[in-house]
Amino acid sequence: MRWLLGWALFFCMTNFQRSEADVESGYRSLWLEGERRSWPALQGDCVCDTAIVGGGISGVATLYYLLTETNQKVALVERNRIASGATGNNGGLPTVYIERPIGELVEEFGLAKTEETFREMAAAHSLLEEIHAAIGFSENLCPLDATRIGLRSVPELVSWWEKNDIFFQLSSEKWSTWVVDDPAIRASIPLEMRSSIRWVSREEMAGALKRKKLDYVALTVRERHRVRMNSAAFCDRALCYLKEKFPDRCAIYEETEILRVNLTGEGTVLPHSFGAIRAKDVVLCTNAYVDFSIYDDRLGKSVTKLHESIYPREGYMVAYETQDPDNSLAAVLESENPSVPYWYLSTAPLSAHGQSRIACLGGPEFDLESRTPAFIDQLGKESLAHINQYIQENGLDCPSPPTYFWHGTMGYTKSGLRWVGEDPEHCHLWYNLGCNGIGIYQAVSGAQKIAQTMQGKHFPPSLFDPPTR
Ligand SMILES: Cc1cc2nc3c(=O)[nH]c(=O)nc-3n(C[C@H](O)[C@H](O)[C@H](O)COP(=O)(O)OP(=O)(O)OC[C@H]3O[C@@H](n4cnc5c(N)ncnc54)[C@H](O)[C@@H]3O)c2cc1C
Repeated sequence: MRWLLGWALFFCMTNFQRSEADVESGYRSLWLEGERRSWPALQGDCVCDTAIVGGGISGVATLYYLLTETNQKVALVERNRIASGATGNNGGLPTVYIERPIGELVEEFGLAKTEETFREMAAAHSLLEEIHAAIGFSENLCPLDATRIGLRSVPELVSWWEKNDIFFQLSSEKWSTWVVDDPAIRASIPLEMRSSIRWVSREEMAGALKRKKLDYVALTVRERHRVRMNSAAFCDRALCYLKEKFPDRCAIYEETEILRVNLTGEGTVLPHSFGAIRAKDVVLCTNAYVDFSIYDDRLGKSVTKLHESIYPREGYMVAYETQDPDNSLAAVLESENPSVPYWYLSTAPLSAHGQSRIACLGGPEFDLESRTPAFIDQLGKESLAHINQYIQENGLDCPSPPTYFWHGTMGYTKSGLRWVGEDPEHCHLWYNLGCNGIGIYQAVSGAQKIAQTMQGKHFPPSLFDPPTR
């Protein structure tokens, strides 16, 4: 018995050491593996119609629509490398959702605005398909056959339905509900829900959620219109396409940090280390990063609303090659652990024609009180320990240590809502930011809306309109 304990201790320690070593040896994102084109740093001044700050998917999609739907000359500037922010470090799952109870949104903002916002997000699926087709990269959209969201109790199921009732009505998706076939559970399901339920065994429920334990009793299933994509590769391909198609109207700079945004009344001046960009308008696509100041010369004051609203949260993920043949997303809501609001495990080939199958598992997420590497690594160790435990408990075929382990920063706004459009008080200052946990579709629909608004199109009020204060 003593040798068994000793072996168990040795096993735990080596696993722990591996986890630590993995964090220390650096992170590796699945999405940043391939070759990507590099772009020059801006060495002096630049003049254009619109400047886009931030080279993630929000900035790249905004560049795409400004070039394809207007005649503007546009410059995109990124302080690191393109897609080095959340875009190269995410879960790859475009999602029509806002991480706030929908009933609450309707109560606060009204049904019309909420509906309009969901319509905006839902339209982004076709936009993403269109852009991928235009840039010749449709294989980047890997279809998933189902999205399954697991719930641990009937009250959780009922609350999930109540919270998301309008969302289910608004989304044109087909959703169904599975519940474990058990007399006590059957009796506790509200009568009005019973007719639409598919009754399944505990084993079938656990299998659908890719769990070993038979602890989840209900799930909601979305059956189509779901993809996984590499948003970093998308940015790379889109930029190469845009530079070739619009050589005279498109400028792309990496390693160029905008230090300040000056709103002059007639336009904007954006100083960087070696000069300044002068543009009529600026679109901030800077996600959680606000290491620059904004000053409105016309009003003679600093603009601080973005700095006061945005705050960063860090999410951690792993990925590995899998034998699992099911192309799906399984998410389980975890109310007990505040560092893991929910686990999400997606399985799909890396490209629609790809052979190797990759599983991505995410969940741990934290407010980022400090951006020091030591603090980020400390959260990384904690996250990897949670992730390893989840992998072991559920018998996932992930190697130890996981092949890929990475983290990314999400910009949350105080309202939990994205900002898309021109600032209502400060002319020429535009935003396409505030991912609030989910931002791929939202980046793309926001980008098209900005380009069309600049062309004079009017849109109905949306939850994503930038706030007055
Ligand atoms: C772990 C994780 C999992 C996620 N999973 C999903 C998911 O499954 N589905 C989904 O829809 N969304 C997901 N998201 C969110 C999604 O990744 C983001 O919404 C999206 O990538 C944000 O893109 P962005 O262009 O707005 O921001 P980023 O990609 O962060 O780009 C902002 C860029 O601005 C640059 N920048 C900042 N300041 C300056 C400056 N002064 N000068 C120049 N450049 C500057 C930064 O360097 C950065 O590259 C996830 C995010 C994370 C972190």
